[in-house]
Amino acid sequence: MQYTSTRDVQGRAVNAAQAIVQGLAPDGGLFVPDRFPQFSLDDIARMAGQSYADVARDVMAPYLDTFSHAEIADMTRAAYGSNYDHPAIAPLTPIDAQSHFLELYHGPTLAFKDMALQMLPHLLRASLKATGETQNVLILVATSGDTGKAALEGFADSPGTAVVVFYPEGGVSAAQERQMRTQAGANVGVVAVRGNFDDAQTGVKRIFSDAVFAESLAKRGYRLSSANSINLGRLLPQVGYYFWSYANLLAQGNIQLGDRINFVVPTGNFGNILAAYYALRMGLPVNKLICASNRNNVLTDFFAQGRYDKNRPFYVTSSPSMDILVSSNLERLLFELCDRDSQTVRKWMAALQADGHYDIADAQKSTLSRHFWADSCSDQEAGDAIGRVWRDKQLLIDTHTAVAYRVYERYRAETGDDSVSVVVSTASPYKFASDVLQSVAPASDVDGNDPFAVSDALAQATHTPVPERIAALKHEPIRHSDVCDTGDMPDAVMHVLARL
Ligand SMILES: *Cc1c(COP(=O)(O)O)cnc(C)c1O
Repeated sequence: MQYTSTRDVQGRAVNAAQAIVQGLAPDGGLFVPDRFPQFSLDDIARMAGQSYADVARDVMAPYLDTFSHAEIADMTRAAYGSNYDHPAIAPLTPIDAQSHFLELYHGPTLAFKDMALQMLPHLLRASLKATGETQNVLILVATSGDTGKAALEGFADSPGTAVVVFYPEGGVSAAQERQMRTQAGANVGVVAVRGNFDDAQTGVKRIFSDAVFAESLAKRGYRLSSANSINLGRLLPQVGYYFWSYANLLAQGNIQLGDRINFVVPTGNFGNILAAYYALRMGLPVNKLICASNRNNVLTDFFAQGRYDKNRPFYVTSSPSMDILVSSNLERLLFELCDRDSQTVRKWMAALQADGHYDIADAQKSTLSRHFWADSCSDQEAGDAIGRVWRDKQLLIDTHTAVAYRVYERYRAETGDDSVSVVVSTASPYKFASDVLQSVAPASDVDGNDPFAVSDALAQATHTPVPERIAALKHEPIRHSDVCDTGDMPDAVMHVLARL
């Protein structure tokens, strides 16, 4: 399998290991596979009795032909095992006769980022070996909360790597901040940035394009790498759980082999739902991919109007991991949409950079609507959905999942489609306990900044257990308390490295 850039399909092709080590193509495009491996209905039926790790192995293997089948099996077994607090890894919970939550939050950090970031360190290590890289790798992450902790947890004490995470001071949930600041590991650093997420992100991007900085890193034996969601090594592991859910619905008799099902995905950077689209292209029987956004509804408008326009206000919402105006992974969908015509992709991306918007053709818009349906909802609607799902079904969902569920309700009402549907549940409600508590017990008046008081109150109000990994944080010492201005981020990195 060869990979080329979305912006230069005729250009130099690389193998999977090179694509994973490089992260981004040199021309700024994203690496895309030269074809979609095909899975027949029989292949899918065979997955019905397999473990999660084995389904993940079989789905990824054709993309990762740089590595042996045994190597991939070792990686998936290490990535999807006892590090999860549920034996199924990604359990399906019935909502009603035709819909289910797919719980992707049973990994070490209680959000779906673990599904990829528990796998990426293994992939990166194997890729570095395959490409003959001798330097250590320094992973730099700017996070709005979930990615940072998942990267820390994935890379902690992973040989040959170091990881430094920047998060906006005061811009993440109390539980998220506590998770990061207590992170153990000899090769990790966590720094709060005085600014918002965009400031932190811009600071990290600036470091990546700073040649002088790269040189001083090289002197210390490090090269930079990124764990962000455009890396192929994060995209591929996410394809696995779409096949897994289908195989499970099949095994439980919820669907017949060949039935088309819907996936509802709470969307930010478009990585998760793009993986669903890859699954569709690989032969998984999919009816609609339902793209759910919060008040930052740039994608909803794009699917409705055919214009992507980032010139709009940015809203801070109760689903912060979806607060985003430029969804990077959409570029891979655009590449397929224009029949792999890099010139068109380049034109759109240049327009996005210069004017903040681009337009696709009407025919392309209708192609998209064959596979996608998109809508958005407000914090109020999402909060109401949390309360309703709790009261009616005794299921506790987080603020991101609530956006997906609300949009799914509207999809059903507007289309009358009663196909079996999987609503992707991306975080534990205890990760956003303060907002969730307000929805299920509005009268409660605990201090929202004390993550443990909020968790205990939520547990009391709902008689659900506080996840062990949240409870355990209480006894973990604070290990990181660095704070810096955005301009001092390079120094902060060096400071962390000097300590390692
Ligand atoms: C990252 C994240 C999302 C958005 O996923 P994308 O792949 O960026 O679209 C949704 N929910 C949660 C909890 C997340 O952490």
